[in-house]
Amino acid sequence: MHSFPINQHMKIKFILPALTEAKSPYWRPIKYSLFPPLGLATLAAYCSPDDEIDLRDEHVETVDTEEAPDLVVIQVYITNAYRAYALADLYRSKGSYVCLGGLHVSSLPAEAAPHADSLFIGPGEDTFPVFLNDFRAGCPKKIYYNRERTIEEILPVRRDLIKRQLYLVPNSIVVSRGCPHHCDFCYKDAFFEGGRSFYTQRVDAALSEIDRLPGRHLYFLDDHLLGNQKFAAALFEGMKGMNRVFQGASTIDAILRGNLIEQAAEAGLRSVFVGFETLSQANLRQSNKKQNLGKDYADAIRRLHSLGIMINGSFVFGLDDDDKDVFNRTVDWAVNNGLTTATFHILTPYPGTRLFQQMEKDGRLLHRDWDRYDTRQVVYKTKSLKAEELKAGYDRAYQSFYSWSNIAKASLQHEQLKHCIKHFAYAGGWKKFEPLWNFIIKTKGLNKMLPLLESILSKVKKEKDGGTSPFPAIA
Ligand code: SF4
Repeated sequence: MHSFPINQHMKIKFILPALTEAKSPYWRPIKYSLFPPLGLATLAAYCSPDDEIDLRDEHVETVDTEEAPDLVVIQVYITNAYRAYALADLYRSKGSYVCLGGLHVSSLPAEAAPHADSLFIGPGEDTFPVFLNDFRAGCPKKIYYNRERTIEEILPVRRDLIKRQLYLVPNSIVVSRGCPHHCDFCYKDAFFEGGRSFYTQRVDAALSEIDRLPGRHLYFLDDHLLGNQKFAAALFEGMKGMNRVFQGASTIDAILRGNLIEQAAEAGLRSVFVGFETLSQANLRQSNKKQNLGKDYADAIRRLHSLGIMINGSFVFGLDDDDKDVFNRTVDWAVNNGLTTATFHILTPYPGTRLFQQMEKDGRLLHRDWDRYDTRQVVYKTKSLKAEELKAGYDRAYQSFYSWSNIAKASLQHEQLKHCIKHFAYAGGWKKFEPLWNFIIKTKGLNKMLPLLESILSKVKKEKDGGTSPFPAIA
């Protein structure tokens, strides 16, 4: 039985538990030292100014499990679920009141329920303040469902709680929630079930948030920054003259449509995450990835490169139309099209998705060991490829794409020498200097690397004469 701290200041701990990947041989500390836990810092804004708040990200710091705060709020992803449940059980045994929320809890509330005092289904901005009132009044509910879905009046993120020196990209920012599309393998629809699944902040509030961030570099973590054309156009218009450089995500169709991408480039967009996913139309159809169907990928890439925007392409292996050659074919295509970085995934049926339901119905799920649902392992019965082929091909794709020769070859696909150099520096720096990154992380100096990142992402002015590639045979 909890004694609720009615009308008094509380000790509150917000925790992002480490993903299982943190203990795997694939673990790259730099990959998990990129972004601070923005979602938790957003919820923290709803606490009272008198509350004593501790925000902990287990990827970059330890969590003190000796103490027993009044309230513990834990964000649960699929591959940190077991760690999250263990922490929750521990804090509850000490008398803390424990809240669990996040993607995995929203997909599988029944699984999470025994580990929590309160559960949050869907995004927490609307429900967490309601919970805090209930909690202070001594009558918190077991489950809070988010139905309202608005971030129009959202409070400013508690960035004072973020330890900026521990992250390479402390200026991460989110100005929308969700995405207008409905890919079968994506978590999004499960998380936003029962209400709107794509909505934005007010443009003026987003611009104020940007204004508050120091330095030049920003990373928009929105699922689809260009998803609402009107909002994005107004945002980019407002950002003109702010002297920012930024990175974000978009779909192919939004890149090809109208002139939004030009406006983004003018506002400072220098690198974009694009979900190409697969080069097969059958695979796209199987995944309900309609926004990619029939789209000219090469055309989108040319357009991005002409604007000086680097590309991080995302690909998934293991869809039913994939054959043994898919790995070489995809890597060759990515290199020949000058993609700067690539993120490969093994198809993973996350619970709550249509892909999961279909695979469950077809008896294709091998197990429900969520620690292994990390997109690096095969957790389902494959069709045209053997599981070992899929795993080996996936590993090979990473090695091959990030070989020095392919980094050089992809760099040389750009028309301007400066683009070639930036590409080479960005891709090489990201994947080839692991010991250096580890050293910088250890010395807590990650954010000192920001000026370097900003200069790599700075605008390349058009060369007047002889502006084409110094390597004409390749361009
Ligand atoms: S476009 Fe991306 S974020 Fe949107 S539903 Fe598809 S995979 Fe999810």
